[in-house]
Amino acid sequence: MRYRIHADTVLTVDDAFHIFQPGQLTWEHGVIVSVGPQDSDASPVDQVINMAGGIVMPGFYNGHNHAAMTMLRGLADDSPFFEWLETHIWPREARLSAGDIYAGTLLAAVEMIKSGTVAFADMYFEMDAVARATELSGLRGWLCRGLIGNEDSDFAKLDQSIRFAQDWQSKASGRIVPMLGPHAPYTCSPDYLARVAQLAVENDLGIQIHLAESASEMEQMQQLYGKTPIGVAWEAGLFESRLVIAHGVHARPEDLPYLQGMSGGIVSCPISNAKLGNGIMPYAMLAGHGIPLGLGTDGAASTNSLDMFLEMKAMAWMQKLSQGRPEAFQARTALTMATRGTAEILGSPGGVLAPGRPADFIVVDGTHASMTPQIDAVSNVVYAATGADVLYTVVQGEILMAEGLLTTLDEKAITEEARNRLEHLLG
Ligand SMILES: [Zn+2]
Repeated sequence: MRYRIHADTVLTVDDAFHIFQPGQLTWEHGVIVSVGPQDSDASPVDQVINMAGGIVMPGFYNGHNHAAMTMLRGLADDSPFFEWLETHIWPREARLSAGDIYAGTLLAAVEMIKSGTVAFADMYFEMDAVARATELSGLRGWLCRGLIGNEDSDFAKLDQSIRFAQDWQSKASGRIVPMLGPHAPYTCSPDYLARVAQLAVENDLGIQIHLAESASEMEQMQQLYGKTPIGVAWEAGLFESRLVIAHGVHARPEDLPYLQGMSGGIVSCPISNAKLGNGIMPYAMLAGHGIPLGLGTDGAASTNSLDMFLEMKAMAWMQKLSQGRPEAFQARTALTMATRGTAEILGSPGGVLAPGRPADFIVVDGTHASMTPQIDAVSNVVYAATGADVLYTVVQGEILMAEGLLTTLDEKAITEEARNRLEHLLG
């Protein structure tokens, strides 16, 4: 089937940042055939979708998530960080069954599809359950088991991660990409990280890790190893594979030689970083040295919402605020980070609307009062829109949401299931 969508605006996020008003996009077999101004491609199609007032744009790539933490959304918010983690989160996480994690990942998938996310990177456990939920949802997932090296002295969990990768590589029509997920340098020793690095190279797997998230992590790494967390990761060999660094809040000038030319990049999670009081990623320093930068939400227990529109706003606000200049960070940069920037970090050709790229896109309703008038479509998308304005979400050419209605998932059943499971988690 060949499809074409017509809309008032098409934001391509391509190299020249083409914006077509009005524009059209044609796709077939999960790939974009053409994109351009109205009537630029008159080839016959099987189905036409007319979206008067719509804004077609790449769907979001959420570069850092713990999807099933939706089950713990709102738990002990506003507590001191370590009290929150040790007294509230970890004991509940220990009770999460594979069924809970499946239910929580589906809950996250509903929220992500409804707010325009087409792909996410996830670090959690019971990853078969996460992968099955991802497969069912129609989303793309870069999935890894979170490895606490200090509790894995016999490498059993690392071995399980390799088996998970072998089981799921290229499954779900290529929508699932397994990775390795050493949690952080304060939960994994340098020797453990080195073993992860070696297995990543041997098995051709990318790596996700939390680095330079908090000031206390910086102090701890300095005391233990006399290095920054990014330096510890470099020393262990993690940069020899594609490396997706979550946070990088405390990246320092001495880290730049490690980061320049890296495969992968840094995924900023500004709302999580703000809510947990961790700080603001030094965007100007990193971007100024060509470090690849993307955006993610982190888990819903720390960020509460998986809406990437909010993440773009937070990114822009915090950079403008921290630099004291509104022109220091542009709406286009936020949009690029949330789409193409993150996709490139993950090694995906998505996040751009151009011929030959994956047909992963969304349609935003530009007719809502909050989106009117449309003087600048990019400004409206970044500064005015929320996930509630998304009408269509399309992944690999498959329509996962049409006119606000999900096609792959039963929202009512999934939200009910999540509520039913809460009692045994909180009890
Ligand atoms: Zn995280």
